[in-house]
Amino acid sequence: MTAQRLDGRKLAKTIENDLAPKVAALTREIGRPPRLVVVLVGDVAASASYVKSKAAAAKRVGITADVFSIQESTTTAELVSTVEAIGRDEHGPADGILVQLPLPDHVDARAVLDAVPPDRDVDGFHPVNAGLLSQGRPHFIPCTAAGVQKMLLDAGVKTRGKHAVIVGRSDIVGKPLALLLASRGPGGDATVSVCHSHTSNLKEVTQQADILIAAVGIPQLITADMVKPGAVVIDVGINRISDGGTSRLVGDVDYDPVADVAEAVSPVPGGVGPLTVAMLLENTFSAAKERKKRSFMAE
Ligand code: NAD
Repeated sequence: MTAQRLDGRKLAKTIENDLAPKVAALTREIGRPPRLVVVLVGDVAASASYVKSKAAAAKRVGITADVFSIQESTTTAELVSTVEAIGRDEHGPADGILVQLPLPDHVDARAVLDAVPPDRDVDGFHPVNAGLLSQGRPHFIPCTAAGVQKMLLDAGVKTRGKHAVIVGRSDIVGKPLALLLASRGPGGDATVSVCHSHTSNLKEVTQQADILIAAVGIPQLITADMVKPGAVVIDVGINRISDGGTSRLVGDVDYDPVADVAEAVSPVPGGVGPLTVAMLLENTFSAAKERKKRSFMAE
C-alpha cells in the first residue's frame, strides 16, 4: 500500500485564501489591520525561523505581525512586565500575543505565558483557555492541536468511535489534542490513548491505533512495525538531523516504510507545520474580531 500524503501546505494555502478577504473586511471595519505581537527571546535559530514564517504568513493574509526581540539575559520579571505592557496595548494595539517557545532555562515560562491576557492568547496556552478546552467549550485552541484536527477533517478521516493514539503528552500538543479528539462532535468522539516516555510496550499500544499521532521529538521513533495496516498517521515531530554533511528536517515517523502500511501519512516538512501557522492566523483574526465586538458593546 502506498499511503495518501496528507499535504499540509496545500490545506494551509486554502485556509489563507479563505481568510484574506475576511481580514480585509475587518480591516475596513476597524480602520487598521489586525495585529499580532510576537515576543522572541534570545537567538535560537529555529525559533527565529518559526517566527519569520509566522510573520510572513500573517503578512500574506493582511495581518500585521510585529516581533519584540528580547535579549537572552532577560529575567522572568522583566518578561512578565513586557508581556503585561503589550497586553495593555502600551506598544500599540495587540489583538493577538504570542510568546515564542522555548524560553531560556532561567526563565519561568509558565509565569510568562500566564501574563498573556486570555482574550489575546492566540497560542491557547493560558490556563483559562486550557480549562475551557478541557470543559468542551474551547475559545483559543493551541494551534498545532487545532491543525492536526483540521488535517483529519479535511482528509475526511472519521474520528468517531475510532481509537486515536497520541504519542507525547506535552501541554502544547499532546494534551490539547487528546482533549480535542475526545470532545463531542466533528473531528472528535474518538477513544483516545496518550503515550509518553514512561509508557511500557509503546508498540503494543500504537499497533492498536486507527489514528496514530506522533508528537515526541525523536527522529523516526515510529517505525512500520508499530503501525496497524490501514491506519492514518500524523507526524507532528520536527527534528533537524545531519545527513552526510548536510542537515535536514525529519519528523518522528519513518515515512517511507510507514507509508507502505498506512492509509495516509503526513510528511515533514509540509505536513502539520504549515497548519500550525494557519491556525495561528485564524486565532489572531478571531481575537481581533472579538475585540471589535467588545469595544462595540462598551460604546
Ligand atoms: P515535549 O518535549 O514537550 O514533549 C515530548 C513528549 O514526548 C513528552 O510528553 C514525553 O513524555 C514524550 N516522549 C519522550 N520520549 C518518548 C518515548 N521514547 N516514547 C514515548 N513518548 C516519549 O515536545 P512538544 O513540544 O510536544 O513537541 C514534540 C515534537 O513536536 C517536537 O519535535 C517539536 O519540535 C514538534 N512540534 C511541532 C510543531 C509543528 O507545528 N509541527 C509544533 C510544536 C511542536
